[in-house]
Amino acid sequence: MVHIFSISKYKALLLYHFMHRLKTILRKIDGRGYKAYKLLEGKYDYGNYALFIDHVQGDPFAPPSRLYIEIDFEKTGFPSLFVKIHKTAFEDFLNRRFYEIARKGSKKRGSGNGGMIIMQKPSQCIIRRDSIEVNEKIVARFFVGLPAYGRKIAGKEAKELLLHDLPYVIERSLFFKHHSYEEIEEHVRVAEDADFIRKQLSKNKLVAFIANNSILPRKSGVEDKPLKNAIRFKSPESMEVEFDCPNRKIKGVGIPEGITLIVGGAYHGKSTLLDAIAMGVYNHVPGDGREFAITRDDAVKIRAEDGRYINNVCIYPLISDLPDGSDSRNFSTDNASGSTSQAANIMEALETGSRLLLIDEDTSATNLMMRDRKMQELVPKEKEPITPIIDMMSVFRKMGVSIIMIASGMGEYFDVADNVIMMDKYIARDVTSKAKEIAEKIKSNRIKEAPREIVIKDRIALKESIRKAMGAKKKIKVSEKNKIRFGKTIIDLVCIEQIAEIGQTYAIAEILTRLPCKNCIKDELLVQNFLSMLPPKGIYGEPRKYEVVAALNRLRGVKFQNCMPAYVSAYSSAN
Ligand code: ADP
Ligand code: MG
Repeated sequence: MVHIFSISKYKALLLYHFMHRLKTILRKIDGRGYKAYKLLEGKYDYGNYALFIDHVQGDPFAPPSRLYIEIDFEKTGFPSLFVKIHKTAFEDFLNRRFYEIARKGSKKRGSGNGGMIIMQKPSQCIIRRDSIEVNEKIVARFFVGLPAYGRKIAGKEAKELLLHDLPYVIERSLFFKHHSYEEIEEHVRVAEDADFIRKQLSKNKLVAFIANNSILPRKSGVEDKPLKNAIRFKSPESMEVEFDCPNRKIKGVGIPEGITLIVGGAYHGKSTLLDAIAMGVYNHVPGDGREFAITRDDAVKIRAEDGRYINNVCIYPLISDLPDGSDSRNFSTDNASGSTSQAANIMEALETGSRLLLIDEDTSATNLMMRDRKMQELVPKEKEPITPIIDMMSVFRKMGVSIIMIASGMGEYFDVADNVIMMDKYIARDVTSKAKEIAEKIKSNRIKEAPREIVIKDRIALKESIRKAMGAKKKIKVSEKNKIRFGKTIIDLVCIEQIAEIGQTYAIAEILTRLPCKNCIKDELLVQNFLSMLPPKGIYGEPRKYEVVAALNRLRGVKFQNCMPAYVSAYSSAN
């Protein structure tokens, strides 16, 4: 005899089966040792979506279990317009919602992290993450602490978690009917406009833009939310530009290509401005205050970083004739000084493709920035390996490198700057003509040093050395956004200021373990999107190539092929 069910009856039956199967397993393993949770691994049909229990944690105190769900996009009810406007921003929105609702909607069940539903936590930046992917299906990857009492399975609690808490979180975060159209629309349209401005920068010969009314300072040194009652940014009139974006017209300061100085008294907001510019390589969420603080995406923050590892970097244009006789064309050290580390940071950024350097005097090696006349008198050129940045400006210009630099203690820089912005009680003023007048009136008595040409060579990371440096097992541990651990080897990323969130660090670590299959750090690999290289786990965020290469460069033990350049003779004339 053949039974013919209607579709809905059939579905109801499936659902019944699923509930039944899940409940049966939970009843069977209730009170047993934690390992029995492994029986849960597999796929469950929840009617509107499918749940995959991908990896079950080994014990209640281990990192939580990995799950994901798949929903047909059509079933979620979201207008596809959101995806069309800005896919990454829409995914980011869902990630934030899921994260928040899971945080509030899950409750502690049993011991350890039991009961918790956790999704990767987004920073203030909108970046691609593998926790939410929207295509014909929405895939959401997250983590769940399976409940236990001591080390025994808490079956009833698990049932509540999987049949009540989790469906609640999914329902609330991934179905359109619980959201406001306007809020999502604003999220994707802000990102659309931010991208638009970033694309327009080069056409307008600008390197950065900060909209009027932006809020630049952060709540605290450890909190990335906007500072309350901050003085909002206002462009100096002479530097104001307007962008006619797809969704609005925005006015603000346009920082031109070339050399820009930021000056001003202590505590007047200089570093805050430069930090906003540094993070302007990413888009920010509505309400952040930096939604329209937009920087060309090749900007790299440069700083001194004494103690860092350097292998075979040509720092010769900035530092030559080292006292120990070592060749700065292939400079290597386990313990760099302030100036050599900053010089290496500059050369590595250029080599990775950056043509926009951001430098804060607060975190710079003074001698690399400039030497004044008295010092030049006492320590003559023959005894000083450094050609300071101030004398290298003609070379940077020739290469098309722009620099935004805080230099409030060094008026000598007025001579080489194209634009000078003064921060005055958090208000930006254009003081370019004033600075130029002063430069005319008070002539520099410095001896200009001959700049050295910079020739960019690809450095090749040697496979074997990467493998060796990571150790045989390549066991990765990332516990904060600026530290990667491979076994005993630590990569210190504390000075890599443009990592926005820990998911990027996870991705960087994982990418490094995959590098040995390719040879060169300037491989194709570095211009493609990284996330597509990694099997999704729900923990990754898309890093920039600059930070990936920065991590590789700091991997102690990694060796790069000699970069003996073809320009040994490279003395060009003084500016
Ligand atoms: P500087 O680098 O010029 O010494 P900072 O940028 O470090 O100064 O800023 C000094 C302090 O002022 C910081 O605590 C910062 O958060 C705060 N700040 C910066 N910009 C603003 C602003 N626009 N409104 C209010 N406070 C600000
Ligand atoms: Mg400062």
